[in-house]
Amino acid sequence: MINYTYRCTICSAAYEIRPEYTVCPQCAPDQQADQPLHGILEVELHGSAGGRFNIGELLPIEAEYFPPIPVGNTPLWEPRRLRALTGLNNLFIKDDGANPTSSFKDRASFLVSAAANKFGIGEITLASTGNAGSSMAGIGAAAGQHINLFLPESAPPAKLVQALQYGARVFRVNGNYDKAYDLSLDYTGRKGGMNRNTAYNPLTIEGKKTVSLELFGQLGRAPDVVFVSVGDGCILAGVYKGFRDLVQLGYISEVPKIVGVQAETSDALYRAFHSGVFENIPTSTVADSICVDVPRNGAHALSMLKGYGGEMITVSDREIIEAQSELSRTTGLFTEPAGAAAYAGLKTAAPGLEPESVVVVLSTGNGLKDTGSAALGLEVPEHCIDTVDEIE
Ligand SMILES: *Cc1c(COP(=O)(O)O)cnc(C)c1O
Repeated sequence: MINYTYRCTICSAAYEIRPEYTVCPQCAPDQQADQPLHGILEVELHGSAGGRFNIGELLPIEAEYFPPIPVGNTPLWEPRRLRALTGLNNLFIKDDGANPTSSFKDRASFLVSAAANKFGIGEITLASTGNAGSSMAGIGAAAGQHINLFLPESAPPAKLVQALQYGARVFRVNGNYDKAYDLSLDYTGRKGGMNRNTAYNPLTIEGKKTVSLELFGQLGRAPDVVFVSVGDGCILAGVYKGFRDLVQLGYISEVPKIVGVQAETSDALYRAFHSGVFENIPTSTVADSICVDVPRNGAHALSMLKGYGGEMITVSDREIIEAQSELSRTTGLFTEPAGAAAYAGLKTAAPGLEPESVVVVLSTGNGLKDTGSAALGLEVPEHCIDTVDEIE
C-alpha cells in the first residue's frame, strides 16, 4: 500500500493532498516578481508497491475518480529509418500527440480532473499557451466539468477552436502567456473553483510523471537518455518525478540522464542552468508551446537537473522547423514545433551519444495543431492545375 502527501520543495513542510494547497503556504509569501514559483509542492510516496506494476496505483488520486477518457498509454515508436540516419540503434519516440486532445498536457489534465471530481469541485480554470487549455477542455468535457480558459492573443487558431469545440469558456487575453497566467489566478481568487495552472497546481507535475512510468513498462527498463522540450519546466520535472518514484520503489536503480531542450530565442531555463539566475527577458519562438519568459516551474526544474546530472541545450527556430520536417519524412510522425525541438536537441547531442544507448525523444504534441509553423519549412504548391498535361 502506498500513501501520499505533499511536500514543499523549499522548506520540506508536509501537507495533506487537498485542493486548498497549491504552492506552499509558508514559502509563497516570499515569492518575488518575475521569478519562478516559490514553494512548489511535490507529491511524496510513503510505503511500498505490492505485486504487479500498475500505474494507476502509483497516483495520489484513486482510480474511481478518473475521468472516462483514455489518456496515456501512448505508443513507443521504433523508427528504423531514423535509427539509421542518427546512428542510434536503440532510438525510440514516445508519441504523446496520440493522446485524446493530441498533446502531452492530457497527462496533467487527467489527474487534475480526477482531483476536482474527488473533492466535489465542478469548475476548473487555467491559463495556457494553447495545449493545456484545449487539453483541460477536452478532459473536462468527458468528466462533465466547466472549464475557464485564459488564452494569450498569439495562440494558434487550431488550439483556440479546439478548446471552444470541447465547450470551454475562453477569455482571450490582450497580452502574452504570463499575463494570462496572472489573470487566471486573479479569477480563481475571486470566483473559486480549482486552478490548473501549470506547477501552481501540484497535480500537474504529478500527472506528467506517468510518461516515465509508461516508458519503464514499455521498455522493461529505464532508458539511458530522454530528450524533453522545455517551456515552464513541468514536463521536465514530471519526467524526473516518475523515474525518481521508480527508484524509490525499487523498480530501477538510477534516474536516467534527462536533456532539456529550449529554443535559442526562449531559453530562460538554459540561461539559469548556466548563470543560476532567472531574468525576465521577453522571448519569442516558432515553437509556441515552449515560448515562456519566466518558467513557472523553473527553480524546481533547475534543482532536479543539477541534482541528477541533467543537461540543457538550445536549438534555433530554423533547426526546429528543419527537424520537424526531417522527422516527418523519415518516420511518418507529424509532431508540432515544440515536439520537434526535442528531436532537434537530439540531433545536436547525437555525436556524444553511444550508438547502443537506449534514447527516447518525447514528441509532446501533434503537428496538426499548428500547421502554419510547419508550412514555414515547406513549399506549398500555389498553382492549381486543370489537366495532367500541365505536370512536367
Ligand atoms: C507544454 C508543452 C511543452 C513544454 O512543457 P512545459 O511543462 O511547459 O515545460 C512542450 N511541448 C508541448 C507540445 C507542450 O504543449
